Amino acid sequence: MTQEVHVVVPTPAHSSLAGALSYRSELPLTPGALVRVPLGKREVCGVVWEAPPADAAQSLAADQLKSIGEPLLGLPPLSAAWRELVAFAAGYYQRSLGEVALAALPPQLRALDATQLARRLKRAAAAPQPAAGVARPELTPDQAAALDAIASEAGPFLVFGATGSGKTEVYLRAVEALLQRDPQAQAMVLVPEINLTPQLQARFEDRFGAGAVAPLHSGMTNPQRLRSWMAAHLGQARIVLGTRMAVFASLPRLGLVVVDEEHDPSYKQQEGARYSARDLAVYRGRLEGAKVILGSATPSLESWQACDRGRYRCLEMPTRIGAGDLPRVRLVNMQNQPKGTLFAPPLLAAIGERVARGEQSLVFLNRRGYAPVLACGACDWRSECSHCSAYRVFHKIDRTLRCHHCGFTERVPRACPQCGNVDIAPLGRGTERLEEQLAELLADARRPDGTPARLVRIDADSTRAKGALEEQLAQVHAGEVDVLVGTQMVTKGHDFRGITLVAAVNPDSALYSSDFRAPERLFSLLMQAAGRAGRDAAQSGRSEMWVQTWNPEHPLFAALKKHDFPAFAQQQLKERQQAAMPPFAFQALLRAEARTQEIAQEFLRQAAQGAQGLPGDGHVVVYSPVPMTVQRVANVERAQLLLESGSRPALQAFLAAWQPVLHGLRMRGLIRWAVDVDPLAI
Ligand SMILES: [Zn+2]
Ligand SMILES: [Zn+2]
Repeated sequence: MTQEVHVVVPTPAHSSLAGALSYRSELPLTPGALVRVPLGKREVCGVVWEAPPADAAQSLAADQLKSIGEPLLGLPPLSAAWRELVAFAAGYYQRSLGEVALAALPPQLRALDATQLARRLKRAAAAPQPAAGVARPELTPDQAAALDAIASEAGPFLVFGATGSGKTEVYLRAVEALLQRDPQAQAMVLVPEINLTPQLQARFEDRFGAGAVAPLHSGMTNPQRLRSWMAAHLGQARIVLGTRMAVFASLPRLGLVVVDEEHDPSYKQQEGARYSARDLAVYRGRLEGAKVILGSATPSLESWQACDRGRYRCLEMPTRIGAGDLPRVRLVNMQNQPKGTLFAPPLLAAIGERVARGEQSLVFLNRRGYAPVLACGACDWRSECSHCSAYRVFHKIDRTLRCHHCGFTERVPRACPQCGNVDIAPLGRGTERLEEQLAELLADARRPDGTPARLVRIDADSTRAKGALEEQLAQVHAGEVDVLVGTQMVTKGHDFRGITLVAAVNPDSALYSSDFRAPERLFSLLMQAAGRAGRDAAQSGRSEMWVQTWNPEHPLFAALKKHDFPAFAQQQLKERQQAAMPPFAFQALLRAEARTQEIAQEFLRQAAQGAQGLPGDGHVVVYSPVPMTVQRVANVERAQLLLESGSRPALQAFLAAWQPVLHGLRMRGLIRWAVDVDPLAI
């Protein structure tokens, strides 16, 4: 019997076609089933959905409907909870349902026909079943108390644990308890960075057996992603471990959600549907009745406030296991140093002493390349990017000028392109120059065996080749490196046994940033870096963190000296409350990209005009359009409009009502626009 089915399909990001399309089917199809359907001239993969509310349905007579193509039978339908998660994300982040639903599926699955799918399913059925795992350490009192609370209370939980306090063991035991209770249950574990998945995956596989863990991240090939996705969807994998995309994994028996380093900005997607995987994970846990555990040594102020208000349960784990106290923090007042000082003499001496004792140091700076700009001494020429409103960075290693925004790369000119002067010189410094200058300054330092100090640099440039990061980290772990120079990349997650000194050479810029979240990020970065000081340092009892600053009196540094996150959070929350900033208010951005800045701003102005009288209007402040901080990228002009409200529901109602207005605006020269709800950078 012919029937009408509703199918969500990948519609263009800004099409007003938000819901499902109707098709004709000879077979009964349940919501959540995958089908191939005609869309325009193409055939695409779609997901069968519940019937939309009557008024939203495109009412065509059944005989006018197109027939569905091939249904992908054999694959169990996506669950109602999964569909609800997708529908919520699409609504909340102001994107089309089809875009979010299809982007949440692995690319290869969307391209399969029924025969190819049947072959994959057969292979999946033959996959080895999880083997029993081994290797449990004894719990510390902190860990045991946290696990007791997790077992007996509802949560969500925020594990506020110092670096080295053993948060991962808490996650492992919580998963173990779940799997013992329900032999079919599944867990989802999210980490912020691909780099952090291999070590965590190894720990989970040791504990639960290799077949039990399905990784999901963008570093995998499409066939690998499909295999992991299938294993989770078919209930074979017990644990999905991945980056933010894994929040949409299909887990029919989800019982536990873990978000490690929950404060990390990488959980926010920066294009398409700009979702926060951390926030969606919490929502999903509630939706599916799964327990939620967030973990961090420096929680986001949003989560910290949720604990204050009793919405989350805070589980403190202050004790570092076998790693002793956190390093002693030493602030160097750069106002007292001669002009142009790169490394204050006492810091240099401290690094030299480490080299002499055979210990390791970590020096970090948040800017890669050799120098942020190349300048002419005779005229006002600077190495600007011709496509962006930004300077191109000087990379001495291959003598190039590279734009870190659009990628435009050129050889360094022999002379100033403007006046012909040959004396063009780098201004400021990046990690490359830092490594070079530190090597010069440490030229006389000797290791215990009389050989010179060995330096290595780890940043996005040095690790571009596949496997390069692992190789460099292995060198550090093997003790083949005395001084490690890097960007914040090296401050995340890695446990360096031999490092006894950590130095931040120039962290001050965050104190002057126009972004109100900059101090929060800096504090978390410095705390994280401090946590890199390893176990050997604890044994020698002399681990130190050095911070060179022009603002030693800043309250951020006072809290850092005491490793006092609660004091820092309290001070920041007070400031945010007084200024009515998140988490005490809710924000959204409308961003526009256009051929000229005038067009971008005109679009935003008209959008603001069109917003008058919308539901929630009286509770939403619409600010004036402004150019973005980096105004032009790859010849595209960018501007944004900030919206703010004390009420999340009011802002949501406003944004939903605004969508048709935005879609209705047409403007010559406008390239694209997007709404970013709960933006992390403004
Ligand atoms: Zn010049
Ligand atoms: Zn550029």
